[in-house]
Amino acid sequence: AKKNGRNGYCFYNQEMSLKLSRQIAIEEALRIALAEDELEVFYQPQFNINNGEIFGAEALLRWHSKTLGSVSPAEFIPIAEQNGLIIDIGLFVLATTIQQVNQWQKSLQANLKVAINLSPRQFKDPNLIQKIALLVDDRSIASHDIELEITEGVLISGQAQVKQALDQLHELGFKLALDDFGTGYSSLNYLRHYPFDVLKIDQSFIADMLVSTESQALVTTIINMAHSLSMKVVAEGVETSTQLKILQQLACDFGQGYLVSKPLTAQQFEAFFRTQNTN
Ligand code: C2E
Ligand code: CA
Ligand code: CA
Ligand code: CA
Repeated sequence: AKKNGRNGYCFYNQEMSLKLSRQIAIEEALRIALAEDELEVFYQPQFNINNGEIFGAEALLRWHSKTLGSVSPAEFIPIAEQNGLIIDIGLFVLATTIQQVNQWQKSLQANLKVAINLSPRQFKDPNLIQKIALLVDDRSIASHDIELEITEGVLISGQAQVKQALDQLHELGFKLALDDFGTGYSSLNYLRHYPFDVLKIDQSFIADMLVSTESQALVTTIINMAHSLSMKVVAEGVETSTQLKILQQLACDFGQGYLVSKPLTAQQFEAFFRTQNTN
């Protein structure tokens, strides 16, 4: 092996090539993940901040690779975005989640709602809207029970095409949520021009709220602003009862986080929902 250069280039290269080979390994394994049945949709309960009632869930993808073990979506989704695999993976999440909520609405006799994440790349599929509409038509559920979550990254990427797609989805009755609010660039402008029903405050603000009065002031401002624009607010990453209490005082609408539950398998979610709503 070569000696490390004075300026550390060798070390840098090693680190880069390690990262690259991990990426290549993930990409390779991801290509067969769908066919090998390695992907599973988990569901994290969403609750009413005021009374704790569970009314639905966010669908979160899990991948257990036979060769790589469990890989976090934070690691593999960006790679699937780059190579286009997100199109098929995204359709899998949509189809699985929509059929699941349909089944739950019958078996649990409840008007459950579910939120599904959409990646920027999925908006490049000219048939995206038609595909989503068909999935909902196939199952007897209402489009307004499906919420589609997008981040500001989607709005930056596609411009006119994305605006049109979101307007169409909204007209079809789907709910639209702006995810990770506060972490992007020009959030306020987006709120004016896009038909969002829900704003999700990023969990970093909720975490900082307890230790920083500035963060709490921001959360207060975001909630009030969203309400004045007729949007509902979801707080992400609610981990403590103190956070819950503050969010109640600030009239935040909904919450999600480890305080109530981590993401669950479909079976676990169903059991959880039954126990929550029988007492
Ligand atoms: P996200 O959409 O912001 O999802 C919320 C993340 O916060 C999830 O991580 C969830 O497990 C985690 N979380 C929930 N409650 C708490 C809490 O109380 N404390 C903390 N520290 N974390 C909490 P996860 O499941 O690892 O997903 C990471 C990201 O991967 C998601 O962030 C989303 O951007 C992406 N992702 C996951 N599933 C999908 C999918 O089906 N499609 C797309 N396009 N992206 C997905
Ligand atoms: Ca999300
Ligand atoms: Ca989020
Ligand atoms: Ca996030």
